[in-house]
Amino acid sequence: MKERASVVVEEYLQAILALQAEEGPLKAVTLTKWLKSSPSTVHATLSRLQRDKLVKVSDKKVIQLTKKGQNMAESLAKRHRLVEWFLCDKLGISWHEVHKHAHVLEHGLTPVVEEKLAEFLGFPKSCPHGTPLPGESGHLPKNTKSLDQFKNGDIIEIVNIGEILEESIDLMKFFLDKNIKPGVRHEVQEKTDITKTIILKSETGTATLNYDIAAKIGAVKV
Ligand SMILES: [Zn+2]
Ligand SMILES: [Zn+2]
Repeated sequence: MKERASVVVEEYLQAILALQAEEGPLKAVTLTKWLKSSPSTVHATLSRLQRDKLVKVSDKKVIQLTKKGQNMAESLAKRHRLVEWFLCDKLGISWHEVHKHAHVLEHGLTPVVEEKLAEFLGFPKSCPHGTPLPGESGHLPKNTKSLDQFKNGDIIEIVNIGEILEESIDLMKFFLDKNIKPGVRHEVQEKTDITKTIILKSETGTATLNYDIAAKIGAVKV
């Protein structure tokens, strides 16, 4: 039987994929902070990943996934998003906390279980937070922009909450309470460059977000 990658390896690849997608060129220091690990542990694991030809580190110390690393990271991201749907839709675990549980369960899915789970769920194209499944059909609508790029008075529809934000259960609970979820419309009520905040207004009230967070939420103008 073909041996599966270790949980640690999968977690590193997944973190690299998510951080790259949302923060651009990635260096070890960001990864260390994100994984809440020590520089020496991250350094040792990165060496291992380089040895196994899963990542490359450029002269400027930018970490990149190789084709093989990218494929493994995407496969895990797919399992992660399917498991989130299963937990949310079928087991009734709240939308704001499925990420945490999926993060543990995703590693144990064999290819057969993954395939059957996708079928059971009706082949979803994104996770419950709107982030597309990697590959074939999964992509954000073309006109998706990050929330910090809209203007006062724009009516927008939320497309996705960035995977990075899902790590904070408190923040996800805030989004849930404020109805900041895929498919929900809001008006950009007040965007203030000085304080770097954006106030959204919906039927359920208002919510203030800072630009940093808004930059990780995708939306389209309606
Ligand atoms: Zn997630
Ligand atoms: Zn998700």
